[in-house]
Amino acid sequence: MALILISSLLFSQIAISLWKKYHPRSYNLTTLLGLWLVPPVLGYRAGNYRYVTVWVLFSIANSFVVKKAMENPMKSGTPGVVYRWYTWVYNISYAVGIVGYVIMIVTFFHVPILAGMARETEENIFTGAITLLFYGLYFGTLGRDFVDRLSDRMATTMGYYSRTGFPAKHLRSNQCAICGEVTDTSGGAESRQIGIGTGTTPKGTVVKVHRLTCGHAFHEQCIRGWTIIGKKDVCPCCKEKVDLKAFKTNPWDTTQQMYLNLLDALRYMVV
Ligand SMILES: [Zn+2]
Ligand SMILES: [Zn+2]
Repeated sequence: MALILISSLLFSQIAISLWKKYHPRSYNLTTLLGLWLVPPVLGYRAGNYRYVTVWVLFSIANSFVVKKAMENPMKSGTPGVVYRWYTWVYNISYAVGIVGYVIMIVTFFHVPILAGMARETEENIFTGAITLLFYGLYFGTLGRDFVDRLSDRMATTMGYYSRTGFPAKHLRSNQCAICGEVTDTSGGAESRQIGIGTGTTPKGTVVKVHRLTCGHAFHEQCIRGWTIIGKKDVCPCCKEKVDLKAFKTNPWDTTQQMYLNLLDALRYMVV
């Protein structure tokens, strides 16, 4: 009996790793759907209605964003909306997770009891902390999974990017491959420099423009979304490796990156 159990476990493990290796797209989609849809069912069965409510609210807002990102043709404002939404999801899930973690550590050393609270109160605080940590990690991982796919999808719709092979359209100079809008109309020499500069949009507003070492220019918020949030480390046009250090301009970016790496590791362990 035990032998059958072990060998079937072993077999399914091998089947999963083969699937992961040869059909990573369908594998990732399946695990994303699993990660999104299975926990709320378990939560509902366990009577955890608060979690189910948060999940429903997240899913409603998230489906609007997903629907927008899947449109073809896509509106030029869409990448901005998508990256803003997922940045927001990260920031909130990060803050919630950290608060949960800190409270958990504090309770672990019985600080509430030392502060004169009852043992029962401390247990409640501990449970609350675990819940917060779970919310942070769950929604953080989920958001990361969604934006990973949507990034690819939006760039492919735009036509200047192809995951494999050649892109469908040719990029004009001073055009952002992520949203398709012009990065600079002034044509000044300063807009040619590598790194962060400024550009004037057709509407006349001045925006931050980031020119990568390969020479391709993007709106700062578009390329930040693509690299940091969408976790792509290549130029969306020519696939030259991007130096991600150029995007970490303050300590917050570094901690955010650490958190995003943690979520990736977690995602890897779960499935
Ligand atoms: Zn752009
Ligand atoms: Zn490039």
